[in-house]
Amino acid sequence: MEKNCEYCGEHEHHHEEHNTREQLRLIVISAVLLVGAVIVEHQLALPTWQLLLVYLVPYLIIGHDTLKEAAEGLLEGEPFNEHFLMSIATIGALCIGFLPGAETQFPEAVFVMLFFQVGELFEGYAEGKSRDSIAHLMEIKPDYATLADGDKRVKPDEVKVGDVIVIRPGERVPLDGVIIDGTSALNTVALTGESLPRDVAEDDEVISGCVNLSGVLRVRVTKPYGESTVSKIIKLVEDAGEHKSQSETFITRFARIYTPIVVFAAIALAIVPTLLGGAFSTWLYRALMFLVVSCPCALVISVPLTFFGGIGGASRRGILIKGANYLDVLAKVRTVVFDKTGTLTHGQFAVTAVHPEAIDDHQLLHLAAHVEHFSTHPIGAALRDAFPDEATDGCEVSDVREMAGQGIIAKVGEREVAVGNTKLMDAIGAKWHDCHHTGTIIHVAINGTYAGHIVINDQIKADSAEAIAALHALGVNRTVMLTGDRKEVADNVAKQLGLTEYHAELMPADKVAHVEQLMGDGLAFVGDGINDAPVLARADIGIAMGGLGSDAAIEAADVVLMDDKPSKIATAIGIARRTLAIARQNVWLAIGIKLAVLVLAAFGVATMWMAVFADVGVTVLAVLNAMRTLRA
Ligand code: ADP
Ligand code: MG
Repeated sequence: MEKNCEYCGEHEHHHEEHNTREQLRLIVISAVLLVGAVIVEHQLALPTWQLLLVYLVPYLIIGHDTLKEAAEGLLEGEPFNEHFLMSIATIGALCIGFLPGAETQFPEAVFVMLFFQVGELFEGYAEGKSRDSIAHLMEIKPDYATLADGDKRVKPDEVKVGDVIVIRPGERVPLDGVIIDGTSALNTVALTGESLPRDVAEDDEVISGCVNLSGVLRVRVTKPYGESTVSKIIKLVEDAGEHKSQSETFITRFARIYTPIVVFAAIALAIVPTLLGGAFSTWLYRALMFLVVSCPCALVISVPLTFFGGIGGASRRGILIKGANYLDVLAKVRTVVFDKTGTLTHGQFAVTAVHPEAIDDHQLLHLAAHVEHFSTHPIGAALRDAFPDEATDGCEVSDVREMAGQGIIAKVGEREVAVGNTKLMDAIGAKWHDCHHTGTIIHVAINGTYAGHIVINDQIKADSAEAIAALHALGVNRTVMLTGDRKEVADNVAKQLGLTEYHAELMPADKVAHVEQLMGDGLAFVGDGINDAPVLARADIGIAMGGLGSDAAIEAADVVLMDDKPSKIATAIGIARRTLAIARQNVWLAIGIKLAVLVLAAFGVATMWMAVFADVGVTVLAVLNAMRTLRA
């Protein structure tokens, strides 16, 4: 529940907004008072301690929070945070004026604190902004569901499986279900990034998170809210923050050693030259600048924000990335391995020929459809569609055994029927015949005796060829297709798409073996989640076709493509590379400018103003740069 608040909790949001406004007010007030104090200093020749009191007013107004946090950090034994650094630097600057022969640095001290707060404000704004982009995705979150029974509005999680809900035009689909009445077009853009509406009619599935555009729909709910697509996606994106990228863990480790080093360097800078005869006030001033510059904010904030932005930007285009660490891997992908059915092809087979032996067409289709009754495989769906009376003719199906990569054996009434490829026929000793048709051949045997075959055909997805070309253009030099289907079919697909290689007639275990052999430099496996979960898990990065709601895929994969378009793989790789490049720019920008100012400070060339810029200015620049990841 805590988590929810972070992204979409109304309460928290208002709280934050209030804080920002309050912070802005303090900044303006203390800036005005600072100007006033400078005027007072020039007009009246006040003694130093009275001048200090004048400057302390804006200083405390803007800095009291920072001082408090620094004290808290100190008490908790974790002193090396930015609040501590800013506190000593500014207190030091306030005190320096009391040293013999030194000039006062009061305006500088107030300004450092002021600018530090401007930086904090800006960070808060940037973080809120990128959170909004995630919230944009979270716009898929439905507020209510309308029960058909009594036309009652209830919370989506109060709806039970089997309930009928009404979805009016303009409303968001609250739960996954099947249309029992009505036709409409659905806007899936929040889920897939695809702006073309999808037409739906009776018996079609609807996915929660889409917006109903034109007609009134009555939908029978098939999943409770917690298991509906919308909840899954929200959870997935929220959890993404927990997987840190390499750069993020590097920065955390870096900050942990870097900050104390600079603090000790500052102490040394204040003491050693003084012992060698330098003026203490000069070297103290330089040391204080060291402290201001040493604040690692720019890195600590901008790098995670960059990755957060990358994930957010990807999710806007229907690419769900489960963690920043996967951006690291995606950016380095050199080999992409595809499953064929459902990935490069639609996985919607149509029966193109029926060749029975000893029985008739009708009987052959009848048996095949029954055996496939429970199958989730696309082939199963095709065979059921070819014999629509299957569900109603009362023939009993039992003892179903699905052999991944081969087919299914089941009892239909009294007969044991096997439906699958030649491997399955060989396994049960049925004598099969080849077919002159092109396509996927599904053989059928009854009680071990061959009964003929059914030829089915699938279609290549419209953007598959483009997807392969885009990958090659990105420098992915191996594109491989692995399939359990026949060599003839695989060869045809591979040629049409321009794949660099393919392997056919594989069992699921063979696919794992092939992937292991191909692994080495960044291997992505792309599948539809149907019987390729082991390979998805084994690859450096598993990318699944979300199938707008296929559970297996969303769970097993590291990256989910919500609109099933293979061309999104190249998009995802592009986003990952850009995110990493921006993170790298930020690291070098911050470290570079800071090092330069540290050197200038040590030699006395830099001023406190430059030190403040090196800290806050760089943070602002790095954050602005990080936010570019959100954009296309
Ligand atoms: P792909 O690698 O193309 O996704 P699979 O590994 O899922 O293919 O299946 C390989 C082959 O096994 C299919 O081409 C088909 O011949 C056979 N097969 C798998 N499942 C079934 C099924 N449910 N009914 C009939 N044949 C099947
Ligand atoms: Mg498959």
